[in-house]
Amino acid sequence: MRSSELRHVVVAGGSVAAMTAAQTLRMEGFDGIITMLSEEERSPYTRVPLSKERLADIATDDDLQLATPSDVDLHLQLCMPATALDPVAQLVRTPAGDLSYDGLVIATGARARRLAPELDELVLRQLEDCHLLQERLSAARSLLVVGGGFLGMEVASTAAGLGLDVTVVDVVPPLDRLLGPLVAGRVRKAAQAQGVRLVVAESGIGLVGDRGGKRVRGAMTGDGRFFGGDVVLTAAGDVPNSSWLGRSGLSLSNGAVVVDPHGRVDAASFPNVVAVGDVAVTRLGDGRETRTATWTNAVEQAGTAVRSLLHGEEASPYRPADYFWTHQFGLDIKLVGSPGPSGQPTTSRIDPVSGGTLLVWQPAANRPAPTAVTINHPMRPAKLRRMFAATRTQIAG
Ligand SMILES: Cc1cc2nc3c(=O)[nH]c(=O)nc-3n(C[C@H](O)[C@H](O)[C@H](O)COP(=O)(O)OP(=O)(O)OC[C@H]3O[C@@H](n4cnc5c(N)ncnc54)[C@H](O)[C@@H]3O)c2cc1C
Repeated sequence: MRSSELRHVVVAGGSVAAMTAAQTLRMEGFDGIITMLSEEERSPYTRVPLSKERLADIATDDDLQLATPSDVDLHLQLCMPATALDPVAQLVRTPAGDLSYDGLVIATGARARRLAPELDELVLRQLEDCHLLQERLSAARSLLVVGGGFLGMEVASTAAGLGLDVTVVDVVPPLDRLLGPLVAGRVRKAAQAQGVRLVVAESGIGLVGDRGGKRVRGAMTGDGRFFGGDVVLTAAGDVPNSSWLGRSGLSLSNGAVVVDPHGRVDAASFPNVVAVGDVAVTRLGDGRETRTATWTNAVEQAGTAVRSLLHGEEASPYRPADYFWTHQFGLDIKLVGSPGPSGQPTTSRIDPVSGGTLLVWQPAANRPAPTAVTINHPMRPAKLRRMFAATRTQIAG
């Protein structure tokens, strides 16, 4: 079916990937009906500030709202989850009945991974989680964060800024996987300088509940060390929201919907179904799978997939988003390229005005693409990405 024949596109999901998909549909000239199904009771908002400005109460709930296209034929249905999919009959099931579509965008994102479902674990994924965490922190003196990825470390940074006594436990050195030992080491130093205790427990970590209750009171390492906190937050990654697709016949890999580089779930059988953002994993031409659970990926992949929905193979394929940023412990960090650069950078420059740092790692045996990282550097993300694209072209040439 060509774009001109599409009359009703259903977008399942209610956050940045879903909104970008709706906006791209309109920008590309689609003039049919868009129905957006969101499980949440709130209009689409961004999650990025939940661990930063919103948790610190610098931003309000309203500041987080994503712009909704003012569009008479965009039907946003809140508290309306997609519960099942029949791609042959082109039906999405919802609690209010079946919805037929002739184009479908799957953008149901991910939820926080839980380590002990039998306990009342505190996690941070939705605005309501942020409200609850804020309330608990306001009555607490200490916070234990289980998981030292970017999310856990951002919460640790915000909580330290609020004056709490903060401990982060992980099985690997916090942030190494994403930022590489050099930059991660600099963040860890900044964290420790702000009084945050970082614990690496290679022997493993398990949550410990109240005796007889469900409240999490701390974490025990495999070698028998206990760490407690008035508040305990699990920040142990995410799980794609794909259970509603269980009987659809779509291909899943580790719970994520497998898509081709055009965002299509099965170009031969269902060219009118695409999946985008945190719920999707892209299978590249060489068979490798790549899933990047970041804001930039959600936006760029949604754009690519919607263009392929409308224009088929003529639309450019997706290039995995290579940009990520985080702000914590007074460090504004932007990374373009392969995550986790190891070894010494080939270029290291200090900006004379800001004192910010630019680091570049050229490709090496274990690093097929270059990586550039800025720390408190004024270079704008777009310029950093352009510079990086040029480096990549030079290398490819
Ligand atoms: C606290 C926090 C901080 C972050 N900070 C950064 C950052 O600094 N930089 C960065 O690049 N990225 C950051 N991220 C990651 C970024 O927010 C995600 O990659 C992005 O939100 C993914 O967008 P998405 O629309 O694919 O999925 P999601 O944001 O997960 O949205 C999916 C939506 O679909 C809804 N949904 C789920 N199931 C159904 C269903 N069956 N039917 C209908 N609707 C459904 C969900 O309720 C949700 O509204 C952060 C994430 C969190 C949680």
